[in-house]
Amino acid sequence: MAHFIILLGPPGAGKGTQAERIIKKLGIVHISSGNLFRENLEKETDLGRLAKSYMDKGELVPDNVTIAMVRERLTKLDCQTGALLDGFPRTPAQAKALDKILAEKNESILCVPYIKVPEDLSVERLSGRWTCREAGHVYHEKYNPPKEKGICDIDGSPLYQRDDDKRRTVEQRIKVYSQQTAPLIDYYDKNGLLRTIDGTKEIDEITESILKEIT
Ligand code: ADP
Ligand code: ADP
Repeated sequence: MAHFIILLGPPGAGKGTQAERIIKKLGIVHISSGNLFRENLEKETDLGRLAKSYMDKGELVPDNVTIAMVRERLTKLDCQTGALLDGFPRTPAQAKALDKILAEKNESILCVPYIKVPEDLSVERLSGRWTCREAGHVYHEKYNPPKEKGICDIDGSPLYQRDDDKRRTVEQRIKVYSQQTAPLIDYYDKNGLLRTIDGTKEIDEITESILKEIT
């Protein structure tokens, strides 16, 4: 049976950071909807242009395009053994669509680690986040700095600060999270899949806690 796992949590909780570590242990792919949108943006596709108008404002990209994009990604062969979803689903409609996509594959969600952090920590983490151009690897100038300033440890590509990590957009993203994504905590709690993880801890400790819930 394949392992489909969803990492839930507010912007800046550490989903991307944890995803990179967990996929190495489990041997499954990391699917980040934010990274998929940013790849489209780099390639200047129609989807990228459409997504940018929402991302710049800290709003969610409409469900129909987001669901179609993730659905297509999940049909790829590398998802046969499962996937770690990060940043998707973000609305109840996306969560229902995902249940349906997986049911069509005769699969289901294994569990939903929810990385819980207070709002002030989200803001602090996002304001010090540096992201790699090549593959979206993330660093923090204070908490998780790269070996060489401005350069990704993994692929040597330059690091940049995302436009939407600026203070005003961050505040909007957190608001959107509370309104549209936080209801998923209850959704996955009700069906017994939610595993709450203390996201205020050190990166390694959080990885351990998540792995304990999964394996
Ligand atoms: P998300 O994908 O949930 O938005 P990221 O994984 O990109 O979050 O992490 C946001 C920022 O916080 C990054 O700069 C990352 O290096 C940093 N970070 C992640 N986890 C921790 C942690 N446990 N303690 C301190 N900083 C962290
Ligand atoms: P973070 O790392 O802070 O959680 P992401 O990289 O996941 O942020 O997302 C960045 C932006 O991409 C979001 O603010 C939103 O505009 C868009 N986005 C990403 N995933 C989704 C989704 N599942 N539904 C709608 N919009 C999304």
